[in-house]
Amino acid sequence: MKNSKPPPHSASLLRELPPIHRLVAAPALHEFGASLPSSLITKTAQEVLDEARRAILNSPEDATPTLPSFDELTQRIAERLHRLEQPSLRGAINATGVVLHTGLGRARLSEAACAAIAEVARGHSLVEIEAESGQRGSRQDHVQKLLRELTGAEEALVLNNCAGAVFLAVSALATGREVIISRGELVEIGGAFRIPDIIRSSGATLVEVGTTNRTRLSDYADAITERTGLILRCHPSNFAIVGFTEEVPTPELAALAHDNSLPFIEDQGNGALFPLDTFGITGVKGSLVESVSAGCDVVTASGDKLLGATQSGILLGKREPIRRIAKHPLARALRVDKLTLAGLEATLRLYRNPEQAQTDIPTLRYLTRQEPELRRMAQSLARGLRRILDKERFAVEVVKESSQVGGGSLPNESLPTLCVRVRCLTDSPTVNDLAKTLRQSAPPIFGRIRSDALLLDPRTLELTEIPLIVAAFQRI
Ligand SMILES: *Cc1c(COP(=O)(O)O)cnc(C)c1O
Repeated sequence: MKNSKPPPHSASLLRELPPIHRLVAAPALHEFGASLPSSLITKTAQEVLDEARRAILNSPEDATPTLPSFDELTQRIAERLHRLEQPSLRGAINATGVVLHTGLGRARLSEAACAAIAEVARGHSLVEIEAESGQRGSRQDHVQKLLRELTGAEEALVLNNCAGAVFLAVSALATGREVIISRGELVEIGGAFRIPDIIRSSGATLVEVGTTNRTRLSDYADAITERTGLILRCHPSNFAIVGFTEEVPTPELAALAHDNSLPFIEDQGNGALFPLDTFGITGVKGSLVESVSAGCDVVTASGDKLLGATQSGILLGKREPIRRIAKHPLARALRVDKLTLAGLEATLRLYRNPEQAQTDIPTLRYLTRQEPELRRMAQSLARGLRRILDKERFAVEVVKESSQVGGGSLPNESLPTLCVRVRCLTDSPTVNDLAKTLRQSAPPIFGRIRSDALLLDPRTLELTEIPLIVAAFQRI
């Protein structure tokens, strides 16, 4: 700043900016002294002061720059300090209708899972100790038996996430060997998780067979050599190939692998525990129970997709390959945390009674919500909004719409729903302003914008969240 030569009017204005020590001593900032270190308050005040200085220096020659008042400056500082006081990772309201919204944390957990996590977080726990003998145990014990009981698998292992599970399975079973996979399954599943990259980085060689839309059993059979390490199937969770297609049924592929003494891995991905048509949810391809009974040696899936539990990578299958995977040195690097295990165990317990799973696990409850409930919720929200919003400026209606499942789980399915549609009738606020204000409210609220209107979808809401949304609109 030393070398810049401000025009004379700016120079005099700069001198009128208050000194930093007066700003930080302003009564409006006193309350922050209790929760934030004074160095952070000073640094924030300095930033605001520097910005005000730059705004004056950069103002065009012919315009008279305005000097912010003392109160304006302290107001700006207070706003920033207020944001610094809030946790960065905080709860939010999902009115997008996307049941497994990756940005909003995928699966919402059941009350039972939340309680189990809180208990294990608050105190010490039996994570790796056996109460009966007092001996050191395995953290896998808490979920292994349940997973075996619920899926019929011989063995189970839980890691940090499904990408890690696939990586470790291929590393443990096929490093230095070839992995055969259909061209139609060389997929990318969000966050740059690409199957070809995973195979390469685990030290195996990719052997592609068939074509994008059709792969036959003979394509796999012809590719088997003495270098083959395993056959891999990956569910294309986030897209669908439709039309002239052909794929080999899983049991046939497993049988081919076994005839050649090779392991067969299926990356099932979505983690539906059993066929979800039991609940009237259509369009979900495959389930863990089906993959296990089809004879897969290893099945991998995410815990926080359709299973509705904590972020985790679930491996199920035959005893020998799963134990080899568990013993791989990298298993420690992908170790699952105790809070994750607590949430997963509590969720799995609910599946012992499928009806209870459907009512208690939000992912399943939201996917199976029917029109009468969606209509009641939408109407209740619309009534609340109409009561407080100015009719000249906002139009509030209940409209027929569709919700997405999200989380790379049901690429083709959308579920009929009823949304509250809010349209802005004047130039200010615009629908984008409205959405931004809601995102910045406490708690942050996310809807979706469609055809210049804000849609609030009750599919992913709890009744208790409706008044919170109304309250956020009230502050607009
Ligand atoms: C979602 C998904 C993954 C990645 O799972 P994360 O738990 O997010 O690591 C891998 N494979 C398939 C088929 C998936 O659907």
